[in-house]
Amino acid sequence: MLELFPESARIEGGELALGEVPVSRLAAEHGTPLVVYCAETIRAQARAYRGAAPDALVVYGTKAFANVALLRLLAGEGVGADVSTLGELEFARAAGIDGERIVFHGNNKSIEELHAAAEAGALVVLDAPWEVDAAADAGVRRVLVRLTPGVEAATHRSIATAHDESKFGFAPKAAAAALVRARDRGLDVAGVHVHIGSQLLRTDESVLAVERLLAFLAEMRDRHGWTPQVVDLGGGLGIRHNRDEHPPSVAEFVGPLVRAVREGWREPVQLVLEPGRSLVGRAGVTLYRVGAVKGNGSVVYAAIDGGMSDNPRPQLYGARYEALLANRADEPPDGVYRIAGKHCESGDVLIEAAELPHPRPGDLLAVPATGAYTLALGSTYNGVPRPAVVLVEDGEARLIRRRETVEELLRFET
Ligand SMILES: *Cc1c(COP(=O)(O)O)cnc(C)c1O
Repeated sequence: MLELFPESARIEGGELALGEVPVSRLAAEHGTPLVVYCAETIRAQARAYRGAAPDALVVYGTKAFANVALLRLLAGEGVGADVSTLGELEFARAAGIDGERIVFHGNNKSIEELHAAAEAGALVVLDAPWEVDAAADAGVRRVLVRLTPGVEAATHRSIATAHDESKFGFAPKAAAAALVRARDRGLDVAGVHVHIGSQLLRTDESVLAVERLLAFLAEMRDRHGWTPQVVDLGGGLGIRHNRDEHPPSVAEFVGPLVRAVREGWREPVQLVLEPGRSLVGRAGVTLYRVGAVKGNGSVVYAAIDGGMSDNPRPQLYGARYEALLANRADEPPDGVYRIAGKHCESGDVLIEAAELPHPRPGDLLAVPATGAYTLALGSTYNGVPRPAVVLVEDGEARLIRRRETVEELLRFET
């Protein structure tokens, strides 16, 4: 179980500690639900990417969790930002990341977003025919063209992005036309981009996408005399949310992709990688306080003080999590419990079957691998303010996002 937790996770005196801080102290100081990030794990992941592709520009898929402190931590490791909205761009800018290390995505960028991307000097990834002229008019200079290589990623259909009917990018013919048009409009077409999906647990489809991308590049060179300076391979590497998932390591995933480009394209190109989940997913743990415990039929429910408002992945993607009773972490499980959220939906179940010692009101439940696409996808459903977030390291916990209040929710009312 501890292998799903961040690098710094330990069980000491029967209690889970993260970054050398006992979780009971975190809960007492910051309340629950609380999202806890381990700085050491994020740094280790960033370094794994640098080790696997030393010459590549690594940009963090900000949507996994947009947070200024985490963006700064990553920037300290040389990691830039992949953003797809004005809001995410502002998070990257607030973290002091400059335009040269920002890649701007989005399947429906607004004129305002294109202007902001131009002003920031970001590399803009063209995603629709309309955008070619809009980007040129907005003063964008450097662009990539997003290729949809017709590859079915083996993942949940909501997070597959490169199959033939994807809403993202251009099929090869349309990509060629967009590239030619962009050059006519005076844009510096620096290269191409491909991203086949998220929570990828194998490498094969990604390698296939690279092969198709290389075929596209060869055709562009032969037909139009254009060659790329940049090849952006996107993100997508999965993490373990439960012990049945076995994703490749960063090196196992990135190595074959880098080799495929280096062997298939002899001219020098700048590689870009855009990991999101694999940088921050395992680093995050969510702490909940157990409240009501009750048996209904053959099921014993333990209800927590959060749920689909801080982590809707079970509802969106059928995600399966495991959990640890963090204040009695050395007690063996005595049964299977259903972890219910506090929201008014029968579907608000965080974990269908968690193996735990019998939960009691007041226990602390720790859910690992909740650092990516959890709070980022959260809401204030049922008028529940969003939780606080802390970053732990060497016995210190730093608040990196404070808890919302009900007063703040009321502020939007007129
Ligand atoms: C979401 C996204 C990423 C990051 O994906 P992960 O699965 O979190 O690594 C990278 N690039 C693009 C274009 C994306 O849409």
